[in-house]
Amino acid sequence: MSRTEELPHASHTIAEFVRGYEEDRALRGFRSRKCGFVTATWSLRCPRCGAPDLEDVRLSGQGKVVAYTVQTVPSDEFLNEAPYAYVVIDLDEGGRITGWMPEVRTEKDLAIGDRVHFVPSYKPGVQFAKEGP
Ligand SMILES: [Zn+2]
Repeated sequence: MSRTEELPHASHTIAEFVRGYEEDRALRGFRSRKCGFVTATWSLRCPRCGAPDLEDVRLSGQGKVVAYTVQTVPSDEFLNEAPYAYVVIDLDEGGRITGWMPEVRTEKDLAIGDRVHFVPSYKPGVQFAKEGP
């Protein structure tokens, strides 16, 4: 890639992308028209094949926990939330995203593989909750 190559066209900015979480009450992502790979993070190119041809997709927000840690010393914007779980989620459509779960107060409250869903929220970050009764 040359340094003067034009960047691919973005259908929306990062701010618009994240604001869509609140407007749509859903997660947004991109699907590569070349290879079908789905990413849940704002991108100009497919992270797998590098193609600039991405289509917007609305994600169900359903997925499973692949990693987590319980935060007891949070950043400023989460001062009133600790303890909570910082989680890495594999979404059902594809794509991996980080988020947080206020209901998880100790490591015993969650397990790798647990089913979770996105919770639209006015609070910062991408919030998830456990599936089930
Ligand atoms: Zn691709």
